[in-house]
Amino acid sequence: MDERQLRHDEYTIGWICALPLEQTVAMHMLDERHRDLHNPANDENTYTLGKIGAHNVVIVGLPMGRIGTNDSAAVITRMASTFPNIKFGMMVGVGGGIPNKTRLGDVVICSALGTNAGVVQHDMGKAHAGGQFETRGYLCGPPTAVLTALTKFQADPRTRREMRSHLKKLTAMSDIDESYLKPDSLEDLLFESDYSHANMRKDCSDCDKSRIIQREPRLVDFKIHYGLIASGNTIVKDAKVRDKLCKRYNDNLFCIEMEAAGLMNNFPCVVIRGICDYADSHANDKWQNYAAAVAAACTKALLGVVPEREVRGLQSIQDSITSSSVRASKEYNLQHQAANSPPLTPKKPQGATEPAPQIIGCPEAIWYNNSPDAAHPKLGETLYDANDLTRPQTPPQSPKLENHEKQPHPDDGPSLPRRNTDFGSTQPLLSGDVSAPLTILQKKRSNTFPNTDPAVFFDAIEEGDITTIKRELKNGTNVEIIDEFGRTPLWRAVEIGNRHVIQLLLDNDANVEAKNLRGGNILDWALKKGKEDIVNMVLAKMDAKVKA
Ligand SMILES: [Zn+2]
Repeated sequence: MDERQLRHDEYTIGWICALPLEQTVAMHMLDERHRDLHNPANDENTYTLGKIGAHNVVIVGLPMGRIGTNDSAAVITRMASTFPNIKFGMMVGVGGGIPNKTRLGDVVICSALGTNAGVVQHDMGKAHAGGQFETRGYLCGPPTAVLTALTKFQADPRTRREMRSHLKKLTAMSDIDESYLKPDSLEDLLFESDYSHANMRKDCSDCDKSRIIQREPRLVDFKIHYGLIASGNTIVKDAKVRDKLCKRYNDNLFCIEMEAAGLMNNFPCVVIRGICDYADSHANDKWQNYAAAVAAACTKALLGVVPEREVRGLQSIQDSITSSSVRASKEYNLQHQAANSPPLTPKKPQGATEPAPQIIGCPEAIWYNNSPDAAHPKLGETLYDANDLTRPQTPPQSPKLENHEKQPHPDDGPSLPRRNTDFGSTQPLLSGDVSAPLTILQKKRSNTFPNTDPAVFFDAIEEGDITTIKRELKNGTNVEIIDEFGRTPLWRAVEIGNRHVIQLLLDNDANVEAKNLRGGNILDWALKKGKEDIVNMVLAKMDAKVKA
């Protein structure tokens, strides 16, 4: 059958693989293969083009033998330039699992925790005395359309059935190696952390079987987890290093891998990892093919619930790079001109030079790089109950207004559009089976896309344009809609400090208990910032709710 040939600008999703085996299985997930297109002279990437469901997808691999965050960044930059309408990336492949959370053959999908957008670069940061480690660099998360789809995906009981069906179709393909399907001989062995691999042999046949940790047998073939992924340029094959990393991230880690951080520095993407080992000295490649196949099947199933028209409406990577550059320099200037504004950057040490704003694909990344330490949470801070990711630390019971840092009153002048790390974002999602109960966020997001343009609504909030906000609400915009960084309109309005907008949203029953990125609520935030007027507005709303 003749393959179709499309134009470069007809492709909207980039599927990125680090290993050839990951690329092989990705190609087998295509519903339709398209004819190759010529690359521009400066692009040495090799692409496979095709269609999955309604989406035109570009599959790209990293250069042979070159894995790590830096190489993935270079490959993606070229891809985004050659295919100008790519909206986001999907980094799909294998990774090392964290034993108490995952089993071999499971899938981990990156999901936001704190400011980390689901992926932390574990080898980039600063170690503090006392063992604290502060991560540097901010990584973009998936765009809203994908987050919404992820929510649907997580809740839908058909997800795993879909995945199994995609895996089953692989069996019917004559040109696929059998190792991509789960052979009965595959054993999931987990050794005690302090027991190292016995010898140079690739498998564990000489390892002491009495050091294997006995675990409950699994009743399902695989599970999908949603959580934090650590990425870095160093390969982790040591149980002690792995356990240390877990501790550093407050036991919130699910997977360790080598490419995602480089990718997510550049543009919004989703990271999907099939667990092929436990990042210890016993790691071998036996599970790689099957784990890659499960991850690919998961990606295909996820794409099945991402609406094509939503993707088309997203900003392209190229546009997002351009507009965020403009916005960054605008904000940077504003910040230096606003005499009465609180300093958003800490005083630099004498003799230090101003860091050059680093222009990368998401606005938060730029802001963060302009103000390296401003309000950036330390990873030592426990933001959530360590035993329950869904439970933020208990907020203070009785709000007190004394001893708060004096902040400018919202009416003092035009507020600076703040792009600090206090903006709201996705809450951490639960790990576990797809049948896990829905989080608050999921319920909230189930109906986030009416026939109105979310961007128009958020712009109106930024500009304090009451007429447009009213009109959009009347047209059916959900007051709990979230922006590309996971903020509800009320959170955004509170950050900006426009009381008229806040009141309008409260009058329209905006949820005052919406959590921000760090699991805190609006009341806590306003208290901390000394925004007494907002505290009173929120308390009045809460009172009215209690009385109702
Ligand atoms: Zn071994």
